[in-house]
Amino acid sequence: MAGSAMGWSKRMVTALWCAFVVAGGSTAHAQSAPLTLSVDLTDAPRRILHATETIPAAPGPLTLVYPKWIPGEHGPTGPIDNFAGLFISANGKPIKWERDKVDMFAFHITVPEGATKLDIKMDFLASSSSGGFTAGGSTSANLALLSWNTLVLYPEGTDASAVMLTPSVTVPDGWRFGTALEKSGPAKDDTTSFKTVSLETLVDSPVLAGRYFREIPLAPEVTPKHFLDMAADGPEELELSQEHIDAFDKLVRETGALYKSRHFNSYHFLVTLSDEVAHFGLEHHQSSDDRVPARTFIDDQQFTLEGLLLPHEFTHSWNGKYRRPAGLATSNYQKPMEGDLLWVYEGLTEYLGDVLAARCGIWTPDQYKERLATIAAIYDNRPGRTWRDIQDTATAAQTLYEAGGGWDNWRLSVDYYDEGELIWLDVDTTIRKMTNGKKSLNDFVAKFHGLGGDTGPKVVPYTFEDVVAGLNGVVENDWAAFLRERLDSNAYQAPLGGLANGGYRLSYSDRPNAWSLMEESQSGTIEFWYSLGLHVGGSGVVSDVLKGGVADKAGFGPGMKLVAVNGRAFTPALLRQAVRDARGSGPAVEAIVENTGYYKVLHLEYHGGERYPVLKRVDGTPDRLDQILKPEAR
Ligand SMILES: [Zn+2]
Repeated sequence: MAGSAMGWSKRMVTALWCAFVVAGGSTAHAQSAPLTLSVDLTDAPRRILHATETIPAAPGPLTLVYPKWIPGEHGPTGPIDNFAGLFISANGKPIKWERDKVDMFAFHITVPEGATKLDIKMDFLASSSSGGFTAGGSTSANLALLSWNTLVLYPEGTDASAVMLTPSVTVPDGWRFGTALEKSGPAKDDTTSFKTVSLETLVDSPVLAGRYFREIPLAPEVTPKHFLDMAADGPEELELSQEHIDAFDKLVRETGALYKSRHFNSYHFLVTLSDEVAHFGLEHHQSSDDRVPARTFIDDQQFTLEGLLLPHEFTHSWNGKYRRPAGLATSNYQKPMEGDLLWVYEGLTEYLGDVLAARCGIWTPDQYKERLATIAAIYDNRPGRTWRDIQDTATAAQTLYEAGGGWDNWRLSVDYYDEGELIWLDVDTTIRKMTNGKKSLNDFVAKFHGLGGDTGPKVVPYTFEDVVAGLNGVVENDWAAFLRERLDSNAYQAPLGGLANGGYRLSYSDRPNAWSLMEESQSGTIEFWYSLGLHVGGSGVVSDVLKGGVADKAGFGPGMKLVAVNGRAFTPALLRQAVRDARGSGPAVEAIVENTGYYKVLHLEYHGGERYPVLKRVDGTPDRLDQILKPEAR
């Protein structure tokens, strides 16, 4: 998955009775009758979703569970807090349920004599203004994204791949939808039934519905078929240019050239273009849930800044869904996940997704390099690395997605995404260097992710040792030591060998590059991180301070408000000019800050002028980075 804030930013029972009749009944058996699950989205504009479910059952005690560990979210984030209106009955008579005293996601019942199935009613309140991913905002007056995990119960101890369900969805009048699920027949009124699938496939197949909806087939000559499905706040937001459609066509073709395989029956980009929903991306095997601001496809600057999202989530179909770290390939949603290989799951996806964005023309090579300079600089100034290695950020992933606010550079965050990208660039350029350009990471990917050629959706788990063996299959090297050295390092600075091998070095300029300017204009801030060690918003609120940097030493802290600069009311431009004036022998910048109602004068002893990261070509070295960014598809 990808969070936009992060940009710098988840077998059953023969007859179900086996689950509770057979001790520990968690192993695979064929199921007699499928469950049914009908979701009604007609009240989605009022931020409440309704569902009815039937579950075959036999008399006796039974525990039903609500999905807790959501694939792609890498944590126990199932939105149980907004699960409401649960009524269970059998043969028309209500059954009293009792929540487990320890596991908030488990409901105990006793199925009465004579019952063969349970009838369940439940609602999901799509009213959350906070929280990300499936818990986050998903509806507006004219659209809704249905994540099935928000509205389903299943018998405890069963495997998600063995619980079979027949789903259906009802949408408001006049709405259309996209999904990877296959229809079982034509819609009746506003209700569409889908073919029976496993719970695993259902949770992996969201539905995007909306009044303003458009579907564009991509790269139509490619099989299996790919679709860009969009629902928007208004009709004008669906009118993306042919140039952008061409880039998405090329993205499909470039993935064919890179992965040499496709592991899905069809693929749907489900893009919510809305200012009313949470913004993030969540990968699925045959689709992706991509929620971006309303104007993303019609505003060139926003298109570029969000440009990594679709290539990233699409890449997850191969890296994350088909090939998955063993610790994340759990058999159901109640079992805890282990995130220690997220530097492959997310780090390699970040690298390949960004490279694909350049290869397909979503980004120019220069835009890719400007963004890479930004990433390299962030992780080259990361004091938290001295107490916590990047491996720990992956291992502790479940604690980091919702963590935010000040001192992020000391706590660290989901660093395995972008620092992972730097490591994989290092791997790619090292292979190219060792083989004189004859081989590259493309060869690793073609074998590792192309394993078995084209397949339907399935999971092939891997371990650290499998990754190392795959790299050794391309070129012999001590890859285990290569990777561990970078993953377990407590050096202050990031591993930038990939830049050097690629023919570039990280440098600093007194002018921001075009990428930084776009980010500044989008966020309304000016970058002082590499000069003063300060993130400050347009209104003067300090969002973060670099530990050990100039502002830290001066006494700044996150949450303070910069009121005045050199005696004059703060504006971003005024602070920028003051930093320029302080350069060399100029006067130190004097700041007045307000902190929880108290004022203080702080002096920023800094004379180095403005500093913004840039990549500089190292003359006379091979331009491997430029080679990496060239299109591969014919
Ligand atoms: Zn991701």
